[in-house]
Amino acid sequence: MSPSIAIIGGGPCGLTLARLLERKGIDYVVYERDETDDSGRRGGSLDIHAETGQLALKEAGLFEEFLKYARYEDTVFRIANQKGERVFHAEEGGRDAPEIDRIQLRQILLDSIPSTKIHWNHVLKGVTLDKDGHHILEFTNGVSASGFKLVVGADGAWSKVRASITEAKPKYSGNHYIESRINPGNSLYTTMVSKVGAGTLVCLGSSKEIVIQRQGDGSYRIYLGISVPENFVRGGAVDLTDTESTRQLFLSSEFFEDWADELKDIIRHSEDFSPWSLYYIPPETMSWKPIPGLTLVGDAAHVATPNGEGVNCAMADALSLATKIATYGTDDIDRAVIEYEEDMFKRAVEHINSGLEMGAVMRHKDGPMALISFFKTVTENATQSS
Ligand SMILES: Cc1cc2nc3c(=O)[nH]c(=O)nc-3n(C[C@H](O)[C@H](O)[C@H](O)COP(=O)(O)OP(=O)(O)OC[C@H]3O[C@@H](n4cnc5c(N)ncnc54)[C@H](O)[C@@H]3O)c2cc1C
Repeated sequence: MSPSIAIIGGGPCGLTLARLLERKGIDYVVYERDETDDSGRRGGSLDIHAETGQLALKEAGLFEEFLKYARYEDTVFRIANQKGERVFHAEEGGRDAPEIDRIQLRQILLDSIPSTKIHWNHVLKGVTLDKDGHHILEFTNGVSASGFKLVVGADGAWSKVRASITEAKPKYSGNHYIESRINPGNSLYTTMVSKVGAGTLVCLGSSKEIVIQRQGDGSYRIYLGISVPENFVRGGAVDLTDTESTRQLFLSSEFFEDWADELKDIIRHSEDFSPWSLYYIPPETMSWKPIPGLTLVGDAAHVATPNGEGVNCAMADALSLATKIATYGTDDIDRAVIEYEEDMFKRAVEHINSGLEMGAVMRHKDGPMALISFFKTVTENATQSS
């Protein structure tokens, strides 16, 4: 007998859903692409918001565990211009959104479900239908699986489940982040500690960004925000494995040459460059006719350009879907999905639009002022609606 629910993808969304189903006594299985549970490649710090991510963790019975890792001290947020002058400073505690490293969040979730419920090294190729209209999961390792009442695509931006539900596809935003690191041991590290310290520093100017974010292990993750063609990295305009030539390219007049020397120093010392090309699902495609036995959650449903909500929105989906399944039971699972999707579509459209708005603000030619006024509007709207 197959479990009632197959979850494709063991990211924050799929694992939150798994944990919530576990707590509710609903049988499920997770299929994850990674080979093992110690993959550190998708590192990075995530701020977990009270009304979404934290709520899901509370319902999952994991909030106390989360608090052991949550870094309230890293909620400090500053904005600077390209000369390095600080123009905005929000102290710790301005928003209930503590940081946690992605790998720690993943471990908390993994430890909360039986290891037998996760099948590692299962890369979904696609979902097909048998002659009776049942969904069959086909994996690149030759395994196939079927007999589920519901297949949930929690397999991220490039979901292989999505095509069986909607024609919507991620669209390139015109922007990339190029990620890199300054680790303890780097000759610039002590300067970073004294000049940047805790939290996040966003430097904006001439439609570009340098975002610096302290991680749980004390290292700094750097994001260079640039507007470049979609195939900037794959097309060979830069070879990110060649650290020195990558630094030189970003220090050139094409990118950050006219930025403050102390900010260019960060590029001069950055290591481990990797690309993050920014895609989003067009918001007008964010609705579909319910497909019995199939749904999407998290980035698979609504990948958006960055706005600090991606993981929170994904965990809110998991909570919404698990709650609906518990309400209607697995015998009326399609009704649960219809109600979940109605709820998710609204959240998704707001999320995608907010990412697009945030992108336009960050790449504004007077980025610092645009971002400050954006925050002011958001705060005023939040005060009015509370
Ligand atoms: C560099 C970076 C920084 C970010 N920073 C932030 C931030 O600060 N705040 C924030 O809110 N959001 C941030 N985001 C966005 C956030 O990470 C996502 O919105 C969130 O992880 C979505 O969770 P998910 O579980 O839906 O998808 P994912 O995290 O993408 O997880 C999908 C899972 O599915 C697995 N998978 C993929 N394809 C297959 C397949 N074919 N078969 C089986 N398994 C598969 C993957 O291995 C992965 O485990 C960031 C994203 C990136 C890339």
